[in-house]
Amino acid sequence: MGKVRLDRLLGHMGFGSRKELKALFRAGRVTVDGRPVADAGTLVDPATAAVAVDGAPVTFQRHFHVLLHKPSGVITATEDPRQSTVMDVLPEELRRRDLFPVGRLDKDTEGLLLLTTDGTLAHRLLSPRWHQPKRYLAQVDAPLEPADVEAFAAGVALEDGYVTMPGRLEITGPQEGVVTIHEGKYHQVRRMFAARGKRVVYLKRLSMGPLTLGDLPRGAARPLTEEEVAALY
Ligand code: URA
Repeated sequence: MGKVRLDRLLGHMGFGSRKELKALFRAGRVTVDGRPVADAGTLVDPATAAVAVDGAPVTFQRHFHVLLHKPSGVITATEDPRQSTVMDVLPEELRRRDLFPVGRLDKDTEGLLLLTTDGTLAHRLLSPRWHQPKRYLAQVDAPLEPADVEAFAAGVALEDGYVTMPGRLEITGPQEGVVTIHEGKYHQVRRMFAARGKRVVYLKRLSMGPLTLGDLPRGAARPLTEEEVAALY
């Protein structure tokens, strides 16, 4: 990995925003090899530096995971010559070049998006064998009916002939529902509603396996907590 800015390393580990980290450094609470370091931009080699915060040693994880509340209007990609990507939304202290999104949300979809540096983890979470539920809030252009609930529960035949695995639709308003699916085909939720003659006008992912969006504001991001990381591995 080579030498990296100390504030970036600590930011990746959830020690706070750039501003909060600056205060930590100024207060002399960060030490390297036993000596307080006041400059947040100090370069260290995470493989060899003994870093501590308030005297507690910090062990640098090899991998790093971020939960983003993706806003609509940005594409799920790491770079694009014309359009804004989810990487452009990440605050600088969480932006790392080796992060990439796990799966994809459409440009118009918002909500929970996991980014990770761990390719093996991403591969496992995207594999059809990872049958963890994904929940979406959907608003559609026509009233939802019990027949839609039954169709989702049975599995919906999409326009290309693929029949989805059984899913769940809970009607939460006249034209609004929470959909739970256990797979992730291209545009799946939009296509499931399309098969029922309904167009999705708003779509937001609420959860993915053990990860939930909670009250993370739109456009905000945070590192996964240790518990969340443990639940994924
Ligand atoms: N299903 C969709 O149709 N779009 C998404 O972005 C996610 C699930």
